[in-house]
Amino acid sequence: MIQNQFDLIVVGAGALGVFHAYHALKAGKTVLLIEKDKRAQEATVRNFGQVVPSGLVPGSEWHQYGRIATALYKEIQQEFNIGIRPNGTCYIASNEQEMTVLEELQQKFAAEDYQSSLWTAAEALAHYPMLQKDYAAGALFFPQEVSAEPEVLIHRVLEYLSFKFEDRFVHRNNCPVVDVAQNGTAVTVQVSDKKEYKAAHCFICSGREFKLLFPEVFAGSGLIVSKLNMMATYPQQHTKLPGNILTGLSIRRYESFSSCDSYALLDPAEVPADCAAYGIHILFKQRIDGSVIIGDSHQYAPIQEQDDLNIFYNDMAINEVMLREAKKIMQLDNWAIAQNWTGFYAQHEDEIFCHTIGDRIHIVTGIGGKGMTTAAGFAQHHVSAILG
Ligand SMILES: Cc1cc2nc3c(=O)[nH]c(=O)nc-3n(C[C@H](O)[C@H](O)[C@H](O)COP(=O)(O)OP(=O)(O)OC[C@H]3O[C@@H](n4cnc5c(N)ncnc54)[C@H](O)[C@@H]3O)c2cc1C
Repeated sequence: MIQNQFDLIVVGAGALGVFHAYHALKAGKTVLLIEKDKRAQEATVRNFGQVVPSGLVPGSEWHQYGRIATALYKEIQQEFNIGIRPNGTCYIASNEQEMTVLEELQQKFAAEDYQSSLWTAAEALAHYPMLQKDYAAGALFFPQEVSAEPEVLIHRVLEYLSFKFEDRFVHRNNCPVVDVAQNGTAVTVQVSDKKEYKAAHCFICSGREFKLLFPEVFAGSGLIVSKLNMMATYPQQHTKLPGNILTGLSIRRYESFSSCDSYALLDPAEVPADCAAYGIHILFKQRIDGSVIIGDSHQYAPIQEQDDLNIFYNDMAINEVMLREAKKIMQLDNWAIAQNWTGFYAQHEDEIFCHTIGDRIHIVTGIGGKGMTTAAGFAQHHVSAILG
């Protein structure tokens, strides 16, 4: 490989960037991946790590991308430890109406050959004895789904790419890309230390960074940014919470549920006003070290105003509401919070923002709150569409 020349340059080592690189490498291309930070530290490492195609509309292309991504995570895990755990996903209903929605969703997914088990309250409590008895009205369990450790997943996938495609893959960290331009049939990418790289195509998977590259394109893109508050407890001594655990407020939020006719039975007045105001739904995910991640809330701003989302502090009032709701659902042996942090993602009304400049510079961002579930599947489709 000529050192400065590649088939493809990818900007950004989040889930979208790394899996665009992966699929291009699988297709036999030479790839340079460039990340501005020492280690990627944005949405892809700050999230829950819940890989939940069950949250996406049955039969939709995004549900399908989620299935492809899940299969791919499992396949890579067989070969190289990227921290994927096949523990399934459980949605806990808090009342009869939510249970009715779970029943309808199970049927819709069964028609798509996507299996799940419906549990009574007693069965849910038998599987998760730490659930509050007066909360659980039943549950829907998807055994084929997986959870990831977001703080390590993407870094391990990068190690895997270096190991598997060592002769065709280069990645540079700590290296902001400051300019991308097409000249004839080549794209030139300049980084902050003034080095230049050339490629036939460039994917810009820059997450919520809208100031460095093509700000004029982003200004008219319709992208918005969501800020999420997250917390993690200290490692639990006794409580074991296998898999992804989502709750009644998630049933009211995820699009797979709102695609059900019975969703209309859910009374919005049952959602506490502060949860509605802060966009709170309650999810739990136990890390490998035993600590439990609890979240999350959502506050939104157009991209020009994302700096006004109080990016330098976490509003403890929001965390307290989340803890109050979490304690209605779960009994943990230690509720003390060891860490809290914010995460941000870009989202778009078309599910993702893809925009090509010239015919060789391809911006791909705004995958929203479903990127850990779908990016690897979407990237397969997108790389194939653009690179053939
Ligand atoms: C708190 C939280 C919880 C979430 N939970 C889940 C979940 O459980 N399941 C799920 O499916 N999804 C979840 N998501 C969504 C998911 O994390 C995102 O959809 C996904 O990570 C977005 O990936 P990305 O590659 O687009 O962006 P990012 O992860 O933001 O990556 C973009 C990268 O580009 C780099 N970059 C930007 N500009 C440049 C430049 N000029 N030069 C070089 N590098 C650059 C950045 O440094 C960054 O590393 C969650 C998100 C958050 C914030």
